[in-house]
Amino acid sequence: MTSMLDAVVVGAGPNGLTAAVELSRRGFSVAVFEAKSTVGGGARTEELTLPGFRHDPCSAVHPLGAGSPVFKTMPLDRHGLEWLHPALPMAHPWDDGTAAVLSRSVAETAASFGPRDAGTYRRLVAPFLGRWDTLSADFMQLPLTALPRDPVTLARFGLAGVPPSTWLTRRFRDEKARALFAGLVGHVIAPLDGFATSAVGLVFALAAHAGGWPLPRGGSQSISDALAAYLKELGGAVHTDYEVKRLDDLPPARAYVFDTSPTALARIAGLGGHYDSYRYGASAFKIDYALSGPVPWTAEAARRAGTVQIGPTAGEIGTALRQASSGTAPDTPFLIAAQPSLVDPGRAPEGKHVFWVYGHVPNGWRGDLTDAIERQIERFAPGFRDLVLARATAGPPELAERNANYVGGDIACGAARGLQLVLRPKLSLFPYSTPHPAVFLCSSATPPGPGVHGMSGHNAAKAVWRRLRALVR
Ligand SMILES: Cc1cc2nc3c(=O)[nH]c(=O)nc-3n(C[C@H](O)[C@H](O)[C@H](O)COP(=O)(O)OP(=O)(O)OC[C@H]3O[C@@H](n4cnc5c(N)ncnc54)[C@H](O)[C@@H]3O)c2cc1C
Repeated sequence: MTSMLDAVVVGAGPNGLTAAVELSRRGFSVAVFEAKSTVGGGARTEELTLPGFRHDPCSAVHPLGAGSPVFKTMPLDRHGLEWLHPALPMAHPWDDGTAAVLSRSVAETAASFGPRDAGTYRRLVAPFLGRWDTLSADFMQLPLTALPRDPVTLARFGLAGVPPSTWLTRRFRDEKARALFAGLVGHVIAPLDGFATSAVGLVFALAAHAGGWPLPRGGSQSISDALAAYLKELGGAVHTDYEVKRLDDLPPARAYVFDTSPTALARIAGLGGHYDSYRYGASAFKIDYALSGPVPWTAEAARRAGTVQIGPTAGEIGTALRQASSGTAPDTPFLIAAQPSLVDPGRAPEGKHVFWVYGHVPNGWRGDLTDAIERQIERFAPGFRDLVLARATAGPPELAERNANYVGGDIACGAARGLQLVLRPKLSLFPYSTPHPAVFLCSSATPPGPGVHGMSGHNAAKAVWRRLRALVR
């Protein structure tokens, strides 16, 4: 560990591993240091409940991973990554036993909203259909790491996306479209009336129409394992069980790339109060279930969907998100659920299922949301509780314990609200750089933000390789 490396990466989450791969494949020597005993960060799979039940403690469904511009350039399939598509990307059930759906088909999605909103939805997404690959590459590489390939579509997306989602949902006349769209915005845990929240909903809808909302066979660990295997094939090294507390803990290197929170980076690299204005946001209360059978949803569509949103009205979803963001645990939480073993039976013993669900709670909250969550599931799937063989719960303290990046249990590694949704960790044209010329940040605290897509890692690696090339000139 004494010879000078080109780059050291701290943290083996999807962004850290992607940064390491991007540097290795350009001929730089790279080593990754990870605090936990396995790689993956927020993309891991573990037997959290009973033997044979393979749960994802964090990410489960990957619209942004399957469509990731950088993952598409890597031979991850050769290293075991296979995307599995449920019959429906997402269903949003109602008390009357029906459901609105987000399908790969725009027509099926629009039809599920009813005749008064079908045309509005089709008109909303039409300008972007067939352009997702270019559009997603353009907005995920901002700011200023690359020129947009299709500036006109990007500008159009900006115009549609910058207003608060509450403005956009007013275009819909009925509750089905409004609630489904509000639920899409809820995936980033921000109040619905925030800056650019329309863009969040649009991103998830367009991703479904372009490439679906797939799950990796075997669980999200497969993404991390494929990235780590590719890195090793390229000559990179991965060291686990190695928590970095100071820069001196690391071998000498020309660049240090941190897949950590900005707060941890400042502490480790001695950057003082550089990130003191960075804000952490609401958390989640996560439950992983081992079930004796599939969830008995009343709505037929929910029995075919990889993801299920549970929030009867846009108003209730908005209230739950606002409460969680302002320090109160919601009485009726908005839930996001995933059903991995519907599409990947190997995740549980024969005939049995794993089920993944979370609701939003305040940062650092220490209560137990299990009963409120199960009451909501029972409302749309009577008999659910009878199927529970075991459950593993994790509130903010447990989430923070699993991963130091979840400060106070914030699974987005920084509040995704206000300008910090897009300009993170600070208002800067170079968000991956720090006051220390050899130290870089690559975690989801940088653009394009949370999710397993590796694009923060890719963008940061670009800043690093420019510096490394400048050093040898
Ligand atoms: C409950 C939950 C559900 C989610 N659902 C989804 C989903 O369905 N789809 C999706 O796309 N995303 C989802 N996410 C978000 C996704 O997991 C994250 O956005 C993503 O993992 C961020 O990647 P990252 O590489 O920036 O950081 P992380 O994945 O958090 O990885 C950071 C790594 O750095 C390590 N580390 C931190 N500090 C140190 C240190 N000092 N020394 C050494 N190592 C260190 C950590 O141990 C960790 O392994 C979910 C997250 C949670 C918690």
